[in-house]
Formats: sequence, structure tokens, C-alpha cells
Amino acid sequence: MVTKSEQIIEQTDRFGAHNYHPLPVVISEAEGVWVKDPEGNKYMDMLSAYSAVNQGHRHPKIIEALKQQADRVTLTSRAFHNDQLGPWFEKVCQLTNKDMALPMNTGAEAVETAIKAARRWAYDHKGVAENQAEIIGCEGNFHGRTMTAVSLSSEEEYKRGFGPMLPGIKLVPYGDIDALKSIITPNTAAFIIEPIQGEAGIVIPPEGFLKAAYELCKENNVLFIADEIQSGLARSGKMFACDWEDVIPDVYILGKALGGGVFPISCVVANKDILGVFNPGSHGSTFGGNPMACAVSIAALDVLIDEQLSEKSLELGEYFMKQLRGIKNPIIQEIRGKGLFIGVVLTEPARKYCEALKAEGLLCKETHENVIRFAPPLVISQEELDWAIERIKKVLS
Ligand code: PLP
Repeated sequence: MVTKSEQIIEQTDRFGAHNYHPLPVVISEAEGVWVKDPEGNKYMDMLSAYSAVNQGHRHPKIIEALKQQADRVTLTSRAFHNDQLGPWFEKVCQLTNKDMALPMNTGAEAVETAIKAARRWAYDHKGVAENQAEIIGCEGNFHGRTMTAVSLSSEEEYKRGFGPMLPGIKLVPYGDIDALKSIITPNTAAFIIEPIQGEAGIVIPPEGFLKAAYELCKENNVLFIADEIQSGLARSGKMFACDWEDVIPDVYILGKALGGGVFPISCVVANKDILGVFNPGSHGSTFGGNPMACAVSIAALDVLIDEQLSEKSLELGEYFMKQLRGIKNPIIQEIRGKGLFIGVVLTEPARKYCEALKAEGLLCKETHENVIRFAPPLVISQEELDWAIERIKKVLS
């Protein structure tokens, strides 16, 4: 007999574009760190929707905010004000200690917004000649899938067949301060970096790099843009991964957990001299700043702070990594991470281990062929983590 899961996977393959290669599991229910398929099999989520579910699936306070807002007003567009946007602006600015925010919906849109802001800032404030602004990115980055984001990418497969790419982009090896120094010109508007590269396989720059890069940017009047869409909002054991080196970037890009895994919302946050370059008509989004997203996001940020999820991530992450380092197997090349943002680098493709972990009840996803990413919802308890570790030891030993 064909199961409901098999039927849905077949339907998805038949009618959906094949731009993903998911594990063969259908999720139809979720709560906290746990998800269930239509047959009632239960799994622990070790991916958290690429860190969008840091607060856990269906956190009751976030769902309550969603329901209450759904009964009041869902969408106004920015042609009018809505009563959730003002409070949300203030909250995000307080969290980041910046003057202004600009809301969008997805991470890639927020990246687009930050690049537009940086380019206009270069023309209006830095005095770069028209159309000459340059953006420096890092090799191995992931900033999303729009044309700007793929133009920034060093991955051939992300770009193949999509040219021409956006001009004015240069890349440096991740963590190489000398390369960054040598590539900055008077036309450089911004340096954009993920303080921890998530999609590249939880890659952490050499200690001191973020600080040195920030200072280099200051010396050269270049904006330091931190894409904290995946690494931020408590994931790495600090509210922002830049906090690890006490760096306050000129521009934060946030997304994913900003909506608590419940509603899409992203944003760019910076001071007035940068975000002030936008005037009416220069940028926007029909859904950006909608009251549903704002109400949900306010609750999502409250949960991060009230439940001290940064501290929890830090403490449990250290414990988790220690346990992983105790597994002796020559296929494990490296274990790296900060907080509950951990990559296990194997000497061989990770897919088959992700499938074996699934059979044990753990949902993990390989990234970059050889890396298993462990990034559970940050509400995970010590007991739940021990349950996971026991199964990981079984599969990787
Ligand atoms: N930037 C980073 C660092 C990301 O990890 C991602 C998504 O994985 C994005 C940007 C793109 O976000 P979205 O998929 O919401 O467009």
C-alpha cells in the first residue's frame, strides 16, 4: 500500500520544480524540537529550517500573537501606517542599538536592500562617481538566490545559466585580511560578510578577523555589512555572531528567526547616515512591514530574550561539541561551531549519514557535500539533546 508520505513525495516530484533535493520525509505536524510525518513517525528537528525556527516550532507565545493579529488586520501595504510597525521598528532598533530599520520579507530581499543602501551611500556620502561603486564579498558566501545574491556567490552552480551577473562585485578568501586590504579601492562602498558562514558548512573566520576587517573598513570609509540572517538571533550563542569579537557592524541584515519560523520577515538595520539614503519611491515591498509579520516578530524577539536563548545556545552548544569530539572515527575530519551552530566535517559525502540519522529519528541535512549541520531549535532541553547525542554516536561511531 502506498503511504500518504509516498503519495505526497510523488506529487511534489511530479508538479514541483526540482530546485531542492529534500530527505524523503514529509512533515505534517510540529511542536518544539519535534516533528511528525502523516504516518505518525516522530523525529527531532536538527536543522530548524536553516535556523528560522530558533524559538522552536509553534512557540505558544508566537502563535498567540499570530492568531490575535489575524483577527485584527493582516495587510495594509506601506501606503498607510499600521499599528504594529512602529512598535516593531522601535524593538529592532533597541535590540541592535541602531537608528533605523527597513523591513522586507525574505533574507535575499534584505541583502538586496543592504546592497542598494551601500551603493547609494557611496554616491551620496562617499563621493564615488556614478555607477562606479564596488562591493566586496567573501568566497564561499551564501546571501540568497536573487540576482544580486548569486552575483556575489563564488559557487558556479548557483550562477550557471543565469548571467549576466551584476557588475561591481569582488570576492576575497574568507578570513584573509591581507586579501581584503589589497582589494579595497576608493570606489569600495561596502564589505559584506557572514560572521559565520552557515551554508558553506559552519565556517568560522580566524580569531580576530572580524575585528581587523571592521577596522580596515573604518580606515577606508567602507561600510561593514554583517549578514546575520542565519548566524544571528541567538544561534551562535550570542545575540549576533559579530558579538563574538565585539564588532558592531554598520549594517545588520536579519531574517529567518526574526519571524520565529511562523511568518516571513527580514530587515536591514543601520544608522540614519546609511538608511537615510532611501526616500519615498526609492525602495519598497507590498508585504514588507505588514502587521502580521510585525506582531509575530515582536513576539519572536521577546521569546529570544525572555527565554535567554543565546545563553542556552552557548551552554548546550559547548556540551554538544564536547560529546561530538568524543566520537572516535577516522571519517570525522573536524568538528567546528559556536553555540548550537555546529558542523561535523566528514572525509566522505554526508548524505548517507543524514539518511542513517533519519532512520534513528533525527532530521539533519548535509551542507556542502561533506558536512553534517547540527542546528536544533534553541529551546531544546538537556534531555532532548542527550537523546540526540546517543543516536548520533550510534550512527557516527
Ligand atoms: N543570507 C544568509 C546568511 C542565509 O543563510 C540565507 C538563507 O539561508 C539567506 C541570506 C537567504 O535568505 P532567504 O532564503 O530567506 O532568502
